[in-house]
Formats: sequence, structure tokens, C-alpha cells
Amino acid sequence: MPTVLENIKAIRSNLSDGVELIAVSKTKPNELILEAYKGGQRAFGENKVQEMVSKYESLPKDIEWHMIGHLQRNKVKYIAPFVHLIHGVDSPRLLTEINKRAQQCNRVIDVLLQIHIAQEQSKFGFNQEEVEQFLGSEEYQNMRYVNVKGLMGMATFTQDKAQVQKEFTSLKTLYDQLKNNFFSSKEDFSTVSMGMTGDYKIAEACGSTMVRIGSAIFGARN
Ligand SMILES: *Cc1c(COP(=O)(O)O)cnc(C)c1O
Repeated sequence: MPTVLENIKAIRSNLSDGVELIAVSKTKPNELILEAYKGGQRAFGENKVQEMVSKYESLPKDIEWHMIGHLQRNKVKYIAPFVHLIHGVDSPRLLTEINKRAQQCNRVIDVLLQIHIAQEQSKFGFNQEEVEQFLGSEEYQNMRYVNVKGLMGMATFTQDKAQVQKEFTSLKTLYDQLKNNFFSSKEDFSTVSMGMTGDYKIAEACGSTMVRIGSAIFGARN
């Protein structure tokens, strides 16, 4: 069995320099996270608030914690003091809550807006019209404590590579349009978070700047 570090090295060698690797450590124990940490990995992804908080409390403080899952509004307060990037912002109400909790912590929280690109009904996110309307709204423009750094999306879970490629391309196209229309003078609107273990090579070819990889690093989850 290859080690966590060997897995990370193999994945990195497949990625070009500009693409950031988020090691998705959900359900995995601290020992495995520390193995990756000792090899230089600092960005880790979790999808449950309670699990992220307890790992944050027991692991080195220079780890960057990425919230990649669906986030409930009533749980934002637990991660607001330390979270590095929230990937799954899927509604104006959630962003309003993040803005409020960030202000209380006296910080600005970086976020990605999640866009619904998959065919499946269950995946959360804005559609194109909703995100454009929201970014043009006064409500959004008055939010001082959140920093929108880009978009995040998940493709349909399918073996059909053409379908996955189509969905990732639609996310990259929307990113380019929003960059032009809303963020042309904002340099750090620069992140397209797409690609997981099964589809990160397709995602990179479609313009991903950040991949979220779990099983290929830490092994299958139960
Ligand atoms: C679990 C998860 C991943 C990583 O999945 P793998 O297939 O194990 O790489 C990426 N993104 C999100 C949103 C996840 O929930």
C-alpha cells in the first residue's frame, strides 16, 4: 500500500503548478492528517462542522481548514473564528450569516459561491441567473466581512466523461463571465474549485485552479 505522502506526491506530479491541492480528510483520523502535514501539506478539506472543529482544536494551528460540504446557517458560528475558505456558499441567506459571524470575529472570511452544474437534483448551488442577480444586489454589495474568491462546483457522478467535461466547462465559462462583469478589478477573484478523485484530470483540463481530493490520498471511506 502506498503511503499518504506517496499518494500526494503522485497527484501533485499530475497537476500543473497553478493548481492547489486540498487534501480532503473527512472521516479520516488525525494520524493520517499529520502524516500529510509532515510532508508539507497544509490545506485540508472537511464537510462536517463538528469534525472540523475537533480536528482544528487538536492539530497544528497553521493548517488551513476548507469547509467543502453543505453548511447549515446555524453552524457557521462554530467555524467562523478559524475557517480558511468556505467552498459551499449556496444561498444569499448563508452568506449573510457568514458575514455577520465574521464581523463578530473581527475578520473577513474568504468564500466560494457554489454553482449547480450537475444533472442530479440533490447537489446544492446557485444557477447562473441567481448568481448574477445576487452579485448585482445591494445586499451583496453591503457585505463587508466576506470576500468572494471564486466559484465551486461538483459534476454529475457518472462514468460519462463527456458529460463531466461539459459541466466543468460550463462552470469555467460562468467564472470567466462573472470575472468580466462583476470582478474585473478584483485580482483575487481567481479560484475555480472543481475536481475530486474520480474527475480531477478532466477538471484541470477544463481550467480548475483548486482540486479537492480525498480517497486517492487517504484511501476509500466507509
Ligand atoms: C468528499 C468530497 C470530496 C473528495 O472526494 P473524493 O472522491 O474522495 O476525492 C470533494 N469535494 C466534496 C464537496 C466532497 O464532499
